[in-house]
Amino acid sequence: MSGIVVVGAGQAGASLVAELRKQGCDNQITLIGSEPVPPYQRPPLSKGYLLGDMTVERLFLRPESFYADQGITLRTATQVDAVDRAARTLSIDDETLGYDQLVFTTGSVPRTLPASIGGDLGGVFVVRTLADVDAMAGFVKDGAKALIVGGGYIGLEAAAVASKLGVHVTLVEMADRILQRVAAPETSDYFRALHSAHGVEILEGTGLNRLIGEGVVTAAELSDATTLDVDFVIVGVGIQPDTRLAQDAGLEIDNGIAVDAFGQTSDPYIWAAGDCCSFPYRGGRLRLESVPNAIDQAECVARNLLGAQEAYVPKPWFWSDQYDVKLQIAGLNTGYNRIVTRPGAGQSTSFWYYQDDTLLAVDAMNDPRGYMIGKRLIEAGKSPDPALVADPDADLKALLTR
Ligand code: FAD
Repeated sequence: MSGIVVVGAGQAGASLVAELRKQGCDNQITLIGSEPVPPYQRPPLSKGYLLGDMTVERLFLRPESFYADQGITLRTATQVDAVDRAARTLSIDDETLGYDQLVFTTGSVPRTLPASIGGDLGGVFVVRTLADVDAMAGFVKDGAKALIVGGGYIGLEAAAVASKLGVHVTLVEMADRILQRVAAPETSDYFRALHSAHGVEILEGTGLNRLIGEGVVTAAELSDATTLDVDFVIVGVGIQPDTRLAQDAGLEIDNGIAVDAFGQTSDPYIWAAGDCCSFPYRGGRLRLESVPNAIDQAECVARNLLGAQEAYVPKPWFWSDQYDVKLQIAGLNTGYNRIVTRPGAGQSTSFWYYQDDTLLAVDAMNDPRGYMIGKRLIEAGKSPDPALVADPDADLKALLTR
């Protein structure tokens, strides 16, 4: 008996194996991960852990003993090299391991800068793994000069932490505005102002020509031909789903490993969950890069491995911490054509995304109440009158019962 083998010991892999046992699965379960540590949470890597506020143990999703206690074989520092679908085996170096059911929870890989523009110089980092953040720790210090390439959430969070630690930060964003791919101009404006107030220089519509240095980066030439002295560079230019094994094994790929509503790939013995896969959604396909999705989808796939036949219905939400602002996002804003602002006190405010009269999503800054009510409205398919949302004196909770 070969049992269930899960490749990728991150958020989704760890959630999936725990749910299998919770549901009473008594098969052999093996969780394999290439990183040398037990499954851990990534969000603090660009927040509290980078700041030095968290020990590594606090990153771990569960104590290492959990896996042995649950009869789960956890193999860390183990890279799966290939899958033979006909034989239903995996290869790990010279070893061959059989499976009855296989799950890919391989996550994503960060985009990097090409070596031709200095992307391989020392002092150039991405923020994906614990090892990435440990490697940059000695660089992120008072008085250092940093260039951050990319004004998405990871770049902005890293900018906030670095500037809090006394680093002089310049952030370049090639698009017209930070967060352009994921948020409305109102949210971009909010975070631009927040970073400016903390001394971070944000250059929008500005790219990077090349990084300069002998072995280690010392300067950066920007697309406007200016040159900056830098001590280190953080590259936050997005991620790609890690489909390498699945693609080599001949599985269908469509913006990630393509799965059906139950999480099954084009091979009935292989499933996928988390960042690495796309699933059917409202007539198209969707791939989400978030902790809530990794957990919910993995748990759904675990139940389906045991025969539940439960279609995965995402309830998208996300968060980002920058300085003393917590951004909470409910829903998906794709297709919005109108933003309604609900003003709050101080730094608290929320932006409500509508498509015509339909509420799609809410970005809430230091406004947990606005976020929670927006999330419940979206999940219930309710769209409040925008005039009420925009009225700071209107009782938000009453919107739920209308
Ligand atoms: P991962 O957690 O990436 O795990 C995949 C694992 O598979 C990796 O350990 C990888 O090494 C392993 N693997 C891949 N191929 C193989 C192989 N061939 N053999 C063995 N192992 C393999 N989300 C939020 O919701 N909120 C946030 O605030 C937030 N902040 C983030 C901050 C940072 C810095 C990062 C990097 C991510 C953040 N995210 C956040 C995103 C979130 O962490 C991911 O969506 C989530 O981790 C996805 O889980 P996953 O299990 O699909 O992938």
